[in-house]
Amino acid sequence: MTTRPLDAAPADRAADVHCASVAKTFADGTAALHEVDLHCPPGAITVLLGPSGCGKTTLLRCIAGLETPTSGSIHLGDHDVTHADPRSRGVAMVFQNYGLYPNKTVYGNIEYPLRMARVPKRERRDRVARVAKLLRIDHLLERQPAQLSGGQRQRVGIGRALVREPAVLLMDEPLSSLDAELRVSMRTEIRALQRKLGTTMVYVTHDQTEALGLADQLVVLREGRIEHSGDPEEIYGSPATTFVARFLGAMNLLDAQPLGLPPGTVGIRPEDLSLGEAPGALTLRGPVVDADLIGTERMVHFRCGRQTARIRMRAADPVPAEITAHAPTDRIHRFDTEGNRTGD
Ligand code: ATP
Repeated sequence: MTTRPLDAAPADRAADVHCASVAKTFADGTAALHEVDLHCPPGAITVLLGPSGCGKTTLLRCIAGLETPTSGSIHLGDHDVTHADPRSRGVAMVFQNYGLYPNKTVYGNIEYPLRMARVPKRERRDRVARVAKLLRIDHLLERQPAQLSGGQRQRVGIGRALVREPAVLLMDEPLSSLDAELRVSMRTEIRALQRKLGTTMVYVTHDQTEALGLADQLVVLREGRIEHSGDPEEIYGSPATTFVARFLGAMNLLDAQPLGLPPGTVGIRPEDLSLGEAPGALTLRGPVVDADLIGTERMVHFRCGRQTARIRMRAADPVPAEITAHAPTDRIHRFDTEGNRTGD
């Protein structure tokens, strides 16, 4: 069926993804995933975020069918696809390096999956044309990948995935080889495109800014397990563990006891510290040890006892030799000695 325009939201086609107790141990004994339970809602962007080696790509490859879980099951919509052939799943994947064929034109690259699926020539032509127009690369169809910019190559990679009209679109760090400015604009484009198409998307990144900017649902992975998942603002506002707090927004995490508090960890975001003292607030005081310029702001590192904390200051203000800073009690996060959030 090709009568439905590609840019109409195919809400009927977007499938949800269900991973139930998915574990993956590779042949060499590396346990990459442990009992992962994940639901990716239809028509939304789920972002898998975590440090290198935490299992993001392995989980995505299990959903795509490029890896088979050691145990557990994967459903796309109503279908159990745990052992299904990747081509029969209705998923498409965009890789980090785009994986374009260097000797094919842009047209040939986007058309290729349709050829493999034995789609008739005329329909192939129509579908490639629609996708190319949607991604604004219709003027580049005769070029070869080497004649394209990074951003254009990235669009071709996305086009080749979209042309299959997948129920689920999987993206593995698709922006990591682009420069900072292009990353930001492509991120906006990917989000707009996903909104327009209504496709279910699972997006892998280790970049917290990208994750917060894209996610409808954020899933933070650590050593093959889900550490915290849910609404990105909620996770940022109330991280479940010190790991999530450190990874998302680089929170100050200080041993509570030297600050005169019960054992555990105190978390304070650098932007929640203000200069000076205030009644009832937690005060930190000590000499400045370092300062990094970040655009119009500066991250100033200062000692408090044997620990170091960071405060955000305006770049225009002079860096003092010593900092006295306070955080209101409602901006203080408390974690127990195991690193789990307490006392909300
Ligand atoms: P990155 O951001 O660096 O890509 P990731 O979070 O995507 O990391 P994975 O690629 O999923 O992590 O890897 C998870 C773990 O599984 C790592 O320890 C990795 O070395 C291991 N691993 C991945 N593929 C294989 C394989 N084919 N054989 C053995 N171990 C593997």
